[in-house]
Amino acid sequence: MSVLVVGSIALDTVKTPVEEHSDLLGGSASYAALAASFFSPVKLVGVVGDDFPESEFGFWKSRRIDSAGVQRVHGKTFRWSGEYSWDLNTRKTRSIALNVFEHFKPELPESYRKADFVLLANIAPSLQSHVLDQMKRPRFVAADTMDLWIETTRKDLDALLPRIDLLILNDSEAREITKETSLIKAGRQIRKMGPGYVAIKKGEHGALLFGQDEFFSCGAYPLEDIHDPTGAGDTFAGGIAGYLAGTVSSVHFTDLRKAMIYGGVLASFCVEAFSLERLRTLSMVEITERYEMFKLMSQFEVSA
Ligand code: AMP
Repeated sequence: MSVLVVGSIALDTVKTPVEEHSDLLGGSASYAALAASFFSPVKLVGVVGDDFPESEFGFWKSRRIDSAGVQRVHGKTFRWSGEYSWDLNTRKTRSIALNVFEHFKPELPESYRKADFVLLANIAPSLQSHVLDQMKRPRFVAADTMDLWIETTRKDLDALLPRIDLLILNDSEAREITKETSLIKAGRQIRKMGPGYVAIKKGEHGALLFGQDEFFSCGAYPLEDIHDPTGAGDTFAGGIAGYLAGTVSSVHFTDLRKAMIYGGVLASFCVEAFSLERLRTLSMVEITERYEMFKLMSQFEVSA
C-alpha cells in the first residue's frame, strides 16, 4: 500500500559548529518521503518555486515517489536556515522565508485521495486538516508537529488531533502542549486530546510510544559521528509511516513498536551527512543490518 506524504519542501542553509552549507534540499516532506520510500510507494504533496532543481523530480521518480501532487508555482521555494550549538541537539532558526509556501493550499490529485496511509509531516495544522478533508477513508493517519504550531495555531492543532491515529512530537513539544514536566503524564494526556497513539522523540535518548494500555520505550542507535541533525525527526516519521504502509494492513501496537525502530534506524543514517545525502545512497541491506544490530544491542536477557 502507498503512503501519502504532505509537508514542506525547502532549500535549507544549515550551520553546525564545524560546517555551514547553503541551498540544501530539505523540508519535512522531502525527508519523510524519501525515508518512507524504502518500504512503500509514496504520493508526495507540496509546493516548490522556479528555483527548485528539476533533477529532484527525476530522483523522486527513480524512488517510486509520485510527484503529481507537487505544485511548481512562480516564485521562490520555501527557505529555512538553522544553526546548531555544540551538542548538535539545540537548534535556533536563523531565518525563514515562506515564499511560495505563503499561499500554498494542498490540492490532491484524484489518484491520491484513496491512499490508505497518510503522513501529515510538519506544516501548519490547518493545511494538514485540509489534506484530510480531501481524503476518502484512510486506514491510518500519522502527523508530526512543532513548537511553532503549539504556540501560534493551537486551536487548529486541537481540531486536528481527534482526526489522527498517531501524533509524533519531541519531548519539549510534549511538555509544552500539556504543561507537564513528566513525559509519561504528557504522553497519556496527549492521547486524551485525540490520537490513539503518541510517539515522543527524545533525540539521542530514543523514543517513547503510548497506546491505550500499552507503553514502549526504545533507545536511539548509538552514533559516533553526527554531521547534520536536520530532518532526523521527519525521517523518523517517514520511516514509521512507510514501514506501516508497506507491511501491515491494520495497525496494532506491536507493528508500531517495530515501525519506531525502523524510523530510528533511518534517522540514524540521516544525520550522518548534510541534507538528504546519506539517505540518497542508503540501501535496504544497510537498513536491515543496522536494525539487526540494534535488536542485539537492546536485548537484556541473553543466554550465556
Ligand atoms: P527537523 O530537523 O526534523 O525538525 O526538520 C527540519 C526541516 O524542517 C528543515 O529541512 C526545514 O526546511 C523544515 N522546516 C523548518 N521550519 C518549518 C516550518 N515552519 N514549516 C515546515 N517546515 C519547516
